[in-house]
Amino acid sequence: MPSRAHSMSLLGTETAFEVLAEVQRLEAQGREIVSFAIGEPDFDTPENIKEAGIEAIRTNYTHYSPSAGIMPLREAIANYVSQTRHIRVDPEQVVVTPGGKPIMFHSILATVNPGDEVVYPNPGYPIYESVIRFVGATPVPLSLREERGFSFDVDELRAKVGPKTSMIILNSPHNPTGGILKPSDLEAVAELALRYDCWVLSDEIYSRIVFDGDVYSISSIPDMEHRTIILDGFSKTYSMTGWRLGYGVMPKSLATDVTRLVTNVESCTATFVQMAGIEALTGPQDAVDRMVAEFKARRDLIVEGLNSIEGITCLLPGGAFYVFPNVTGACRRLGLRSSRELQQRLLYEGNVAVLPRSSFGMRNEGETQEYIRLSYATSRQQIEEGLRRIRSVVEG
Ligand code: PLP
Repeated sequence: MPSRAHSMSLLGTETAFEVLAEVQRLEAQGREIVSFAIGEPDFDTPENIKEAGIEAIRTNYTHYSPSAGIMPLREAIANYVSQTRHIRVDPEQVVVTPGGKPIMFHSILATVNPGDEVVYPNPGYPIYESVIRFVGATPVPLSLREERGFSFDVDELRAKVGPKTSMIILNSPHNPTGGILKPSDLEAVAELALRYDCWVLSDEIYSRIVFDGDVYSISSIPDMEHRTIILDGFSKTYSMTGWRLGYGVMPKSLATDVTRLVTNVESCTATFVQMAGIEALTGPQDAVDRMVAEFKARRDLIVEGLNSIEGITCLLPGGAFYVFPNVTGACRRLGLRSSRELQQRLLYEGNVAVLPRSSFGMRNEGETQEYIRLSYATSRQQIEEGLRRIRSVVEG
């Protein structure tokens, strides 16, 4: 076989998909697995959005669209982002993509040079580090600490951002911890981004799934909208993961570059999917409210349940649909060296799928505790059954 590109050795992956494949393999063998592994809402896409998509196919919105998206959707997104972030967004600043994920790849490719440094949250969504390495830049992990409600230490941030930094990546509400960044944390990032003239990629894909209080966007801080790329989309908010619809909001000149990348890679996002997106943003929002209320009830259920298991402690996250409990005590009880071993034990002995800390990056310097991620985007009944199984593995 001919050789493959060297750059492929730099590209990481999302191990959640590997665990998902393993869960499906076990299920095919007849095992019943309670899965807390996958990060997608278990609700169906709301009917009005489905109808809009079907109607759009019927009326032949089945052709190519402009690479940056159809104008009515870009306008609806610009209005929505203007209102929610308290900034003035022009539709020309919006690039629509098949899911939010391409915005990560395209915006990093368009702004970061080989040898640059990019600061990113760790633990964090694994694709950030993967893309940073792929473009030949140096990933600089910023540790999120349990004792700070999974926020970062501002002194550590200051020590890690400097003249070589070309981008700082933020994600709030956060995958995998559910943590939300406080305005003071965002101010600290903004001050450094302005001082060192760097971009901020603000992954706000969970911005509507917030339980107590508000979520803040760094783009709302004066002068930051000129250097911020907001990543958002429809997958989580409207239960539309399989439709593939997301977007980035960025300064116009960068939007032109990112659009050129879209032309090279995807051409455009499916046109009827974009039509459904207009209905999602401008139609009734009660399905979103119901979904968020249900996630809140599940969060309370799972946090209380986990905290009642010997050797597990769990903070109450403010958003998204993940918990990231500390399982150091559970690992010790079972004589396990890492959360990866606990994940395996839970899967093969307990028939419960979770993700280990290692799915979200390597340990930070000095990090001694063990964590797992559970996605509670599953029914309360499944959550109760899963908790019962975890208890029986850990407590014996
Ligand atoms: N950003 C974060 C933090 C995520 O967790 C995900 C999906 O899991 C995405 C972005 C990508 O979302 P999409 O499915 O819209 O590409």
